[in-house]
Amino acid sequence: MNDTEKKIGLKGLTLNELEEYFISIGESKFRAKQLFNWMYNHISTDFGEMQNISKELRSKLSSEASLVTLKLETVQDSPSTGTKKYLFSTYDGKKIESVVIPDKERNTLCISTQVGCPLDCKFCATGLMGYKRNLTAGEITDQYLLTAREYGKENITNIVFMGMGEPLLNYENTLKSIEIFTHELTKGLSRKRITVSTAGIANKIMDLAERDLRVKLAFSLHSAFEETRSQIMPINKKYSLKENIDALKIYAKKTRTRITFEYTMLKGLNDGAKDIKALIALCSSLPSKINIIPFNSIRHMNPGGISAELEPTPLKRIHEFADALRNNNITVMIRETQGDDIAAACGQLAIKNS
Ligand code: SAH
Repeated sequence: MNDTEKKIGLKGLTLNELEEYFISIGESKFRAKQLFNWMYNHISTDFGEMQNISKELRSKLSSEASLVTLKLETVQDSPSTGTKKYLFSTYDGKKIESVVIPDKERNTLCISTQVGCPLDCKFCATGLMGYKRNLTAGEITDQYLLTAREYGKENITNIVFMGMGEPLLNYENTLKSIEIFTHELTKGLSRKRITVSTAGIANKIMDLAERDLRVKLAFSLHSAFEETRSQIMPINKKYSLKENIDALKIYAKKTRTRITFEYTMLKGLNDGAKDIKALIALCSSLPSKINIIPFNSIRHMNPGGISAELEPTPLKRIHEFADALRNNNITVMIRETQGDDIAAACGQLAIKNS
């Protein structure tokens, strides 16, 4: 056990939790706001520099508490697109990745919520590496803080929960990190700039709707047919597409937002005429748009079974598919592949031997 493990970790605590902490150590609860601001606004990891906190309290905090969670190991650059992949290690020797994707007016940070993923989607490298554990709220938050420190906080303009893992299966910690990212006290990001992507945990989508968090929700659809979806996304057997769509309708209504359907195009599997027809019917049933993702190769994982047989839909067909949907008044975006040269594109995040 090292020093950090014995100390209480403060990174990832919400304002309420920090207040409780200060009360528990016999301090005034207004200290919470000061520390909150230091940790999440100034990105400080050193109690010593927190000049508005008394020297005695700073030294007490230094001996009892820690502000460190992740350690940045490497940064990989994609020369063609400017995408950067950050590799972090955790206190227990696990490795996770985050990606910063620059675009014209924005830099989007893609963060992970789990080490690996339990969902086993057949097209996803993270799924192939299996599930290790949930990330703590501190570890989720630190992916933002450590990349923001490099880029400048104001230059990370958007956050997407689309890295490793299923955010709605690490629900409480995902919610805490959203609270921290968007908090007015630290001039956080607007909720509109945060997207949670889910493979479909229907009861959690309902809960999210009730909380009225108003973050954007993306749903990994990949097929509008139950059977095909179950074939490539085993979670569909537990929470059916129908259950999820019912929950998404409520989410869209409550939050007055459009749902983004993510649709990774797989040759011969979900790119036919019948798929277009089913998508048109689905999209007309709730406010939505479609984000088409070209399938990124997962060959670096040496997959077996159905995963080994998956092939990308050719670009020409992707465009035909998108046009057919657009002709039916559906908003469609084709996501440009970013960072596949450093295995940082959608679904390529995986660490062997983590
Ligand atoms: N667990 C969340 C976040 C995962 S990754 C979810 O399922 O939504 C973000 C998106 O990338 C998801 O839509 C996912 O289905 C997609 N994806 C996964 N592997 C991919 C691959 N190899 N090529 C293209 N997209 C992929």
